[in-house]
Amino acid sequence: MSDDIDRLLGGRNEPRRKDKDLFETVEEVFDTATVMTIVELTRRKVIRKLSGVISAGKEARVYLASGYRGEYLAVKIYLTSSAEFRKGIYKYIAGDPRFENIRVRDTRDLIYAWTRKEYRNLKRMHAAGVKVPRPVAFMNNVLVMEFLGENGVRYPLLVEAYRELDAEELRNLYRLILEEVVKIYCKARLVHGDLSEYNVMVTPGPDVAIIDVSQAVDLSHPNADEFLARDLRNINRFFREEAGIDTLSLEELLEVVKTC
Ligand code: ADP
Ligand code: MN
Repeated sequence: MSDDIDRLLGGRNEPRRKDKDLFETVEEVFDTATVMTIVELTRRKVIRKLSGVISAGKEARVYLASGYRGEYLAVKIYLTSSAEFRKGIYKYIAGDPRFENIRVRDTRDLIYAWTRKEYRNLKRMHAAGVKVPRPVAFMNNVLVMEFLGENGVRYPLLVEAYRELDAEELRNLYRLILEEVVKIYCKARLVHGDLSEYNVMVTPGPDVAIIDVSQAVDLSHPNADEFLARDLRNINRFFREEAGIDTLSLEELLEVVKTC
């Protein structure tokens, strides 16, 4: 494998040491195809260098990377090895008109489709003015996006930040999150589908950013209403039971979201 990487990296004028660093970061966890994809993204100058792991989940890992303009990037790499994952994601892809013609022979194709879906969801939300990381590129099972953080340190998730905030700030975050839900529904015509205190970042302000949009579905998806209600219930439960603030009823929220 390292011979292939040497060959792929042969024409570049970056110092060799960097190629080795890249390889050392990724070789333990990823198969050859994934390493090749990362190498190709560096060859195309989408990514300059991968550095530390931001998050190591069951289905994906997120890395901090640097780009060619001195900016930080977040690189989400889906693991191609999880059979559970395949079962879990199929229902989100199956009902979505954007994926009707997709060629899915095996787990790898499904995960590539899933990565593309997250990229397209991000694009649609970003274009609609939703506060999400700006999508940069995707290739196979690798998604590159804007890094949300400062000096290479990511912003905290809502679940990590809320204890430091007072009731007024929390009420304001609740309102800001609902505004994003409305934008996602009315402008992007999507439902997030996995919204919770784990997929909301608290950015300076305090303000919010929405992340992890791979499972977002088009409003025409047969389960879109069910996913919307679940998202709103999750947010309500968190703000009522954990953050300790008054929330609107689910009926009131559905009314607000759906009358746009
Ligand atoms: P999953 O929950 O499926 O593993 P996420 O997309 O939620 O994947 O990403 C996992 C974690 O990586 C997040 O909880 C967050 O800490 C971090 N992360 C994700 N996207 C970004 C980003 N654009 N900028 C900074 N950190 C991010
Ligand atoms: Mn997440």
